[in-house]
Amino acid sequence: MASIFSHAFVAYGVNSTFTEHPYWKRCLFFSIVLSVLPDADVIGFLIGVPYDSPWGHRGATHSIVFSMMMAALVTALFFRDYFQSKMRLLAAFTLLSLSAISHGVLDAFTNGGLGVGFFWPFDNTRYFFPYHPVQVSPIGISAFFSHYGLKVLLSELIFIILPTTAFIIVSKIYSKMRKD
Ligand SMILES: [Zn+2]
Repeated sequence: MASIFSHAFVAYGVNSTFTEHPYWKRCLFFSIVLSVLPDADVIGFLIGVPYDSPWGHRGATHSIVFSMMMAALVTALFFRDYFQSKMRLLAAFTLLSLSAISHGVLDAFTNGGLGVGFFWPFDNTRYFFPYHPVQVSPIGISAFFSHYGLKVLLSELIFIILPTTAFIIVSKIYSKMRKD
């Protein structure tokens, strides 16, 4: 995994394109939840689920289908007041889906563990991108205060936080130009 901070920050970046909308805060909150939720599958290590099985770490919960199912569930449960407006509903569902899918995308850029089961349930192959500059994150906060933890944070700063910040700045400039 990439660290929980990076997953949440990318979800913020995804939502930064919609800050003008009245439902932005709610969407942001659930987007962050969905962006970190896939790593709940580490519980599998404790209960004996093999890492490389479909429900092992980075398997089904990191897939595109699972991400969209979770986004649909959150939209149905917490965005009922948008049912009158198809556009609002679609926007919320899209932001939630992209935030959830971004988790697997970041993990596929890391340099450790098994790849990501993007295409579960159709294909259980685990995938990495050809280029993986992000140091795989340790599990647990205390591990960040070590030499390796600093290496992880530095790689995430360069390859995740800075590009996401650039994206947020560009989208803010763009939305300001549209208003003027
Ligand atoms: Zn993960």
